[in-house]
Amino acid sequence: MTASGNDPFARFVARPARFEQDAADRDARLKLASAVCQAAQSEGCADLAGLIHRLTMAGLDPVDVPRLAGLMTLDAGSLDANALTSELTGDALTLIRKALENQLAISHFGQFSSRLANIFAYARDATSGHLADYIPELAKQDPDAFGMAACTIDGQQMAIGDAVTPFCQQSVIKPLLYAFALALNGENQVHRHVGREPSGRRFNELALDPDGRPHNPMINSGAIMCASMIRPHLPVAERSELLERFVSSAAGGAGTEIDQAVYESERATARRNLSLVKLMDEHDAFPEESAPDEALDLYFRACAIRMDCRHLAVIAGTLANGGVCPTTGHRVIDSRIVRNTLSLMLTCGMYDYSGEYAFSVGLPAKSGVSGGLMIVVPGVGGFSLWSPRLDRQGNPVRGIEVSKRLVEAFPFHIFAGVTRG
Ligand code: GLN
Repeated sequence: MTASGNDPFARFVARPARFEQDAADRDARLKLASAVCQAAQSEGCADLAGLIHRLTMAGLDPVDVPRLAGLMTLDAGSLDANALTSELTGDALTLIRKALENQLAISHFGQFSSRLANIFAYARDATSGHLADYIPELAKQDPDAFGMAACTIDGQQMAIGDAVTPFCQQSVIKPLLYAFALALNGENQVHRHVGREPSGRRFNELALDPDGRPHNPMINSGAIMCASMIRPHLPVAERSELLERFVSSAAGGAGTEIDQAVYESERATARRNLSLVKLMDEHDAFPEESAPDEALDLYFRACAIRMDCRHLAVIAGTLANGGVCPTTGHRVIDSRIVRNTLSLMLTCGMYDYSGEYAFSVGLPAKSGVSGGLMIVVPGVGGFSLWSPRLDRQGNPVRGIEVSKRLVEAFPFHIFAGVTRG
């Protein structure tokens, strides 16, 4: 029986039964797995160890890419399509096939990594700038620490230097506070309370826009406002856990933690941020149901989230990939929210250097006072950097150096297309 428009039973027969669907899925995966085996054979890596080596060379070490974890459970020896079909999803098989056919976001990953290593080595010579010292934990950071990592939209990863040392994210977390507030409240509600215009002022300046709102979510007042909209009815500790869970999913399931000492120091030296809250409160800028002091507390916890460069690069990769985490394959952020977040990172993400950065680097990015920086190359991948010495504007000196060299070495500037050919 065919499911025609007038058939009253159409809705009962239109969809295949569950077991039929499963069988069809398995057939499709088996075909893909056979294609993978063939491609591996012609690339000279027909056994599991050879395939894993080949993937690792392409930047896809299965240990760092949860969606390829099934490979680690296979028996050693020659590749078998049936075994691949049982352990890997269609998405993972497609990824492996792309890698074998040099179709990943960065096709020559080895060359790419060594050019990044050169840029990194060059930027290491930049030793100007000063540590943030408004709290002891930041003043104590190693001024020479320097880490960098990258993650493409296909989950290819590389890391250099101090890329596995966790550091508190400070303002680098602001795009995620904004994205989470959007996910929970929608665009209209969020932007009733926070603008989307660069402020042209310091990130913690006591100033609101002509409508009495913080200028944008990338400065302190705007980020505190976003925090006020994250599940305001729950206790702060629970709200903070929800935020951490969101951040962790964008980072490929990385474990995050709050640096308790940083959090307490932020609270103890909070005079300027308290003034910002008072100013916004005086202008009735907060949503009715929110408690401004709790919003500030959540904001401090967010600033104190610790993560290393590798995980921050995965977050940047998730943004580059329209909200789907490249290492897990899970959708974490709606693509429209990512578009909004990237727009504001481009125009407001680098303090009062944002216009200059958009001009010369041309990429959405966000820096923080601990020396972190995440850079997004839409449709390609994300980069993260950590180097605590800051310039006059509060941006990491080496982070800016690397940004400039990146767009010289690769056509990553969002308007690079018009200069080609
Ligand atoms: N915790 C810092 C503050 O609230 C974050 C600022 C930053 O990284 N620019 O002032």
